[in-house]
Amino acid sequence: MSTGLIVSISGPSGVGKGTVIDRLREVLPGCGHSISVTSRAPRGQEQDGVEYFFRTKEEFEKLIAEGEIIEYDQYVGNYYGTPLTPLLKMSKSGTNVLLDLTVAGSLALKEKFDDTVTIFLLPPSMDELRSRLSGRGTETEELVDKRMAQAKGEIAQAEKFDYVVTNRTVEQAVEEIAAIMKAENRRFRRSRDAVETLLAQ
Ligand code: 5GP
Repeated sequence: MSTGLIVSISGPSGVGKGTVIDRLREVLPGCGHSISVTSRAPRGQEQDGVEYFFRTKEEFEKLIAEGEIIEYDQYVGNYYGTPLTPLLKMSKSGTNVLLDLTVAGSLALKEKFDDTVTIFLLPPSMDELRSRLSGRGTETEELVDKRMAQAKGEIAQAEKFDYVVTNRTVEQAVEEIAAIMKAENRRFRRSRDAVETLLAQ
């Protein structure tokens, strides 16, 4: 059996990564996603082991020391990291796995597993990004300005990713990412077994 793809999606805050990933999982049933560990507090209805594994900073640092966190980053003062064991288990069983990581997180994961498929999600324009960030209604103008400056720095790193997809509409972005995954699954190195089986007949 071939291993599942590890697909890491990044993009600036407000670009709509979460929505795109949720929709991808609806249209690609059987596609798994990596549940990250974080030291931030749960928001709203979030539950431990569903959206995240919620841990204290000390517990998080212990997981790092044990080598159980394959990559991690800090975002707004909290740790976020990808647990190694479930990721490997899913991929080895042939399940494609989606990850929602910071830009640095995707690049760090690719360093560790060079087979990782990295996708950068772009906003259609900087004006659109600003209006999406302001539209959340949760951020002050000053915070929006700060996130916009951060977004520019992140977009400048898009060239380090394998693919860029513009999130004009969720449906279009999802369709493009699904197409990327289909093509990635047809790479020769991932289809070697099929070829070898035929040659052995
Ligand atoms: P939030 O607090 O809004 O759920 O997530 C904040 C940011 O953390 C998002 O940009 C998300 O992509 C990132 N993130 C979530 N889990 C991980 C992780 O395991 N590793 C890294 N590097 N970033 C993560």
